[in-house]
Amino acid sequence: MSSSTLFDYLIIGGGIVGLSTAWQLQQRFPDRRILLVEKEGRFAAHQTGHNSGVIHAGVYYAPGSLKARFCREGVAATIRFCDDNGIPYQQCGKLLVATDAKEFERMQALYQRCQQNKIEVEWLDAGQLHQLEPNIAGVGAIRVPSTGIVDYARVCDALAERFRQLGGITRLNTEVRALQERTDRIVATTSGGSYSARYLIACSGLMADRTTRMLGIETEFQIVPFRGEYYRLPARHNQIVKHLIYPIPDPELPFLGVHLTRMIDGSVTVGPNAVQGWKREGYGRINISLRDVAEMVRFPGFWRVLFSHLGTGLKETRDSWWKRGYLRRVQKYCPQLRLTDLEPYPAGIRAQAVLRDGTLVHDFLFAESPRSLHVCNAPSPAATSALPIGNYIVDKLSAKLAQAREASEAATLR
Ligand SMILES: Cc1cc2nc3c(=O)[nH]c(=O)nc-3n(C[C@H](O)[C@H](O)[C@H](O)COP(=O)(O)OP(=O)(O)OC[C@H]3O[C@@H](n4cnc5c(N)ncnc54)[C@H](O)[C@@H]3O)c2cc1C
Repeated sequence: MSSSTLFDYLIIGGGIVGLSTAWQLQQRFPDRRILLVEKEGRFAAHQTGHNSGVIHAGVYYAPGSLKARFCREGVAATIRFCDDNGIPYQQCGKLLVATDAKEFERMQALYQRCQQNKIEVEWLDAGQLHQLEPNIAGVGAIRVPSTGIVDYARVCDALAERFRQLGGITRLNTEVRALQERTDRIVATTSGGSYSARYLIACSGLMADRTTRMLGIETEFQIVPFRGEYYRLPARHNQIVKHLIYPIPDPELPFLGVHLTRMIDGSVTVGPNAVQGWKREGYGRINISLRDVAEMVRFPGFWRVLFSHLGTGLKETRDSWWKRGYLRRVQKYCPQLRLTDLEPYPAGIRAQAVLRDGTLVHDFLFAESPRSLHVCNAPSPAATSALPIGNYIVDKLSAKLAQAREASEAATLR
């Protein structure tokens, strides 16, 4: 492959959204030349490879939203893909546990939401909860049996393999540094030379705003990184729970609330919390990037988020540094855990799109130019939903191409 080859499609990003899109695009257009570039030396190096590994059933999402639809379809699609590709997964189910009267009330609303979203759900009183999970304390719980666990990095490796088997090309260690849109193509300047393609699809996660800006597309959002910190329990606790155990979330901030997660390798993790990140791809607690910080502090949306969630933010930050505070959150529903049970585990970093007015974007967000389509926000549970999202992107692109064809035919007839 020479750098002067003209590709039909160039995809930026070897996370689960980019790979799912690449594979499904190549299936839809088998004779097209598709190149996927990833700046790291492996797939799933960022959000996809630093997440909880949960196949979410879609409990929280507003009925009728893209998130709710993609998630429901995503569970079935992910399981089918794992079956077809010999990837281990488990549908161990999830319990959402209420520990006081206020949470019990919210749990009733969640139960109804499950029903609206057509998700199988079971109501458990305190006795039934104790019988099912003797190490978990609560006044009641709801059980969602379809929730599962998987290693999304393995899913990505299989997606890449399937894409290449169909003729797709992948390039690791290839960072897109500049983009130029011409009338007939997009030219990408990368760390490995320059590539041209008729269309570009950017699935660049934590870098989504920067990739969009490379083409000068006017957008209202910026990515603000939020660290999600985990601990792992010692191996003697691998059987402490049979299900994934979640607190009842605050509907305003549904991603908050540390949970006990059984991982597919048999271990159990606690987390994640959500604290301000100072480096988009820096996983250490005190990693700081001057560029990332400078961009954040110049963005009004960052300050609005900071001030409107100041109380929550301070508590999250306190418990990030004060392990005992973190432990207390878990002890609310798993009282037998002790400080020495919290062993180090790598953090993840969420790419949260924030609007200038401080709105946290909770649904998917796309931006376009004549020859490009950008996934600007792919929030959790985008790993679960990646297969339907990829399919949706391919549909969107097909519609865009059909429109462009019609416009050019109409121009020829004139
Ligand atoms: C802590 C945490 C826990 C989560 N838990 C879950 C969960 O349990 N279940 C679930 O469904 N979802 C979960 N999520 C959400 C899910 O992981 C993400 O929504 C999903 O992985 C997003 O995938 P992506 O492909 O958009 O982004 P990424 O995985 O971040 O991929 C983007 C890729 O683009 C590459 N890239 C960026 N810029 C360039 C460039 N200029 N040139 C070349 N390559 C570039 C990056 O290197 C990266 O590999 C969690 C997320 C976090 C952070």
